[in-house]
Amino acid sequence: MPYFCNTKISHMKILVLNSGSSSLKFQLFDMPQTKVLVKGLAERIGEATSRFKANDYEVNQPIGTHKDALQLLTTYLLDDKNQIIKDTSEIVAVGHRVVHGGNTFVQPTLITEEVKDKIKELFSLAPLHNPANLTGIETAEEIFKDAKQIAIFDTAFHQSIPVENHKYAIPETFYEKGIRKYGFHGISHQYVSREANKILERTDTKLITLHLGNGASATAVRNGKSFDTTMGFGPMNGLIMGTRSGDIDQSIIFYLMDKLNYTLDEIQTILNKQSGMKALAGSNDLRDIETATDNGDNQAQLALKMYAGAIKKYIGNFTAQMNGLDALIFTAGIGENSQKVRELVCKNLDVFGIEIDKKKNKNPKDYQGDISGQDSKVKILVIPTNEELEIAKQTFDLMQS
Ligand code: ADP
Repeated sequence: MPYFCNTKISHMKILVLNSGSSSLKFQLFDMPQTKVLVKGLAERIGEATSRFKANDYEVNQPIGTHKDALQLLTTYLLDDKNQIIKDTSEIVAVGHRVVHGGNTFVQPTLITEEVKDKIKELFSLAPLHNPANLTGIETAEEIFKDAKQIAIFDTAFHQSIPVENHKYAIPETFYEKGIRKYGFHGISHQYVSREANKILERTDTKLITLHLGNGASATAVRNGKSFDTTMGFGPMNGLIMGTRSGDIDQSIIFYLMDKLNYTLDEIQTILNKQSGMKALAGSNDLRDIETATDNGDNQAQLALKMYAGAIKKYIGNFTAQMNGLDALIFTAGIGENSQKVRELVCKNLDVFGIEIDKKKNKNPKDYQGDISGQDSKVKILVIPTNEELEIAKQTFDLMQS
């Protein structure tokens, strides 16, 4: 097998899969050139209104299962018109995003039966994500029989968080049972922190990466390693998100159960799906909230103030913990696109050496993403995340090694 030789591989087709419960996102890369050959998704799998899209090709038809979706993809890849592959064996590796790796997985991992069993054991920690990720793996094994299947875990980057930052102050027996901070969005935090270090031209850096999408988390990255992060045992903690509350006082949960008679399921739904910006401003889409603030909506203004405030609290927290800060990085849907959020977050942080350039903040792309003010001691960077590329790179590295 060519990829086990010591010689460097000049071209390797790597398929990246991110499977959700009813969706499958994919990208086919030519590595190490990082060229994207195909990009697309199947969504609403299992429903009558499913859609499949690959590059410019799009079809609306029922897609019953993930296997049907991957079969549509292979048909597209093998189609003479598209000239992408002649045989599925050309795809030498499939890199899978797996959300939860628990304490077990700290790096990219070649998937074996044993690894799949461990991913199953972790279902209880990520009941919404890991089962869907495993479905993706098992389907890819059936369709791309010759390819190595590799798992890249969203929690792995955070396994470097030192014990004083990942342990909760609760009885030891729970720690022994795996109750600790795991953190999420690791693939994104790792990708943008590495890109930031390239811009700073050093690796001995103190960074805060802000992944602000529908879910949101901030990570303190010291010397290229995750040092602390805002999400914890699960993904509800930390920043205010689209529909998740972020940090709340635990006693609220007991009060809701004991005094207001909500069930556990109802409380889960409230905190996961009905809270955050949706609760504060009526929408989890930040574009709606920005429009409402522009129209003088007080609720929306308060929501944005609270949203930015939660981020500022962690900037202070992480800067203190790292005893300094070299760069603040904005990424994901909101971080990359919302001028207003970036401005609010950076406002009145000159005490930390954070000063934004308002003009550059309008069009970060015109300034290679560097929106720092002239006197800012901390670099403020807007770096588009690319989790698929990070998965492809890590998969490629593992195949090379
Ligand atoms: P996900 O976590 O689902 O991957 P994304 O990273 O795509 O989320 O981010 C989704 C969020 O980004 C939404 O709140 C959306 O409103 C916001 N967003 C996308 N484009 C813009 C924009 N141009 N301006 C402000 N917010 C935006």
